[in-house]
Amino acid sequence: MCENHLPKHFKENSIDDWVKFFCVMYEKANRDRLPAILWLEAIDEATKLAEEARKNRPSQILRRAVTLFGWLCGFVGKYTVQPPPHDTDPIGDLLKRRCDGDGCEESLGGWVWMKFPGRCPVCAGEKCLCPSYRKLAEDRHTFDVAATREKLVSPDTNQSQKEFLQRQLNEHEDYLRLRKTWHTRVLEARKDRDALKSFLGKPLDQQIDMFVDIFGGSQFDLDLLQITSKLLEEAGEVAREIIALSELWEIKKRLKDGTLPEQDRQGLQKGLETLLAADQHRLPPDFVEGLRAKSRENLVEAVHCFCEDAANSLKGELADVFSWLTAVLYKVGTSLCEYREVQVWYQFSDIIMKHHQRDSATLCCPECLEATCDRLCLWMNICRTILEDKKKEYKRDTAEQWEAEEISPVGGISTGCGAGC
Ligand SMILES: [Zn+2]
Ligand SMILES: [Zn+2]
Ligand SMILES: [Zn+2]
Ligand SMILES: [Zn+2]
Repeated sequence: MCENHLPKHFKENSIDDWVKFFCVMYEKANRDRLPAILWLEAIDEATKLAEEARKNRPSQILRRAVTLFGWLCGFVGKYTVQPPPHDTDPIGDLLKRRCDGDGCEESLGGWVWMKFPGRCPVCAGEKCLCPSYRKLAEDRHTFDVAATREKLVSPDTNQSQKEFLQRQLNEHEDYLRLRKTWHTRVLEARKDRDALKSFLGKPLDQQIDMFVDIFGGSQFDLDLLQITSKLLEEAGEVAREIIALSELWEIKKRLKDGTLPEQDRQGLQKGLETLLAADQHRLPPDFVEGLRAKSRENLVEAVHCFCEDAANSLKGELADVFSWLTAVLYKVGTSLCEYREVQVWYQFSDIIMKHHQRDSATLCCPECLEATCDRLCLWMNICRTILEDKKKEYKRDTAEQWEAEEISPVGGISTGCGAGC
């Protein structure tokens, strides 16, 4: 047993065990940082991963994947495993609570399962078949049923045109029926508590393998750059929810301490009323009812309703980030000859270990080599990076350096992105 609370032999640890491990290791470093800043770290790592993908450097991609996974785990652990953060934190205990009140513990593994209950959340397939329906899926909101029906009975439409229109109409309607069946199946799958428990108890590598099993022949068949853009897209969606939660927290704070000008308070109240009036038939009636009452009597509580929804979306988006991270591992795995014996995504826990092992018994932060990292490590890293840049600049500016290394500054060797930065 190492001092770093990996509860089992490292190959046996599930997503949630790794969440615990990372949030303990980075507890002191992450404790007082705001969620927006913490997630910027994850975005920074995701963009670096994308850069390595563009340069096609598999081992660097894997290294970034490990670090990104670490930030993801540290972030989730801070809000699910650790005691509630300081009351100036916009997320607070929102991620620990569950709206359907089924008493299930909130965790990254649980959110992943809720989003992907052993099957594709869209087509409900244990092997996803979505790509076969891509065209129909994309056109389903724009396909004009009424206009097609009209053309079908019009005397200006000839027989072969009619046959084609009829086929389009049938396909569209069949597809909508399918979507409904699929959706019911996904809802059913989410209720299967035994399957959830079994998923939560699996080692990380097998949990990753579930995604490969579902999407390996379909969604993951994109190229590496498309996959990394999906990953960035999902990281951005997490950011979106964190921005929402941060701003909503700010409104609540100003309402509570009376620093929100009366004009803004009324504007908010009116604005909410207008929003609800415009969309009330597309929202659950009791939700509209409740929100309307709250926005009249207790604006803080009304704003809080939005917080709860944003927090729920945040859970799903964090699960999405994990799912596209598995896609990256799959893609790197299938393109690496050296890993053919055992696929890369089946060795992710080994790769995490390799990056965090000081010696055979101790796991540590790869930067400060301490078992529990702290804010000082972060600060020193920032200073080190700034000095590195300064060194490069100095080297560029000093003519002697160019001569000394016999590199001509004209058309010389460029580092960085290739555009000279
Ligand atoms: Zn699917
Ligand atoms: Zn998403
Ligand atoms: Zn450190
Ligand atoms: Zn550049």
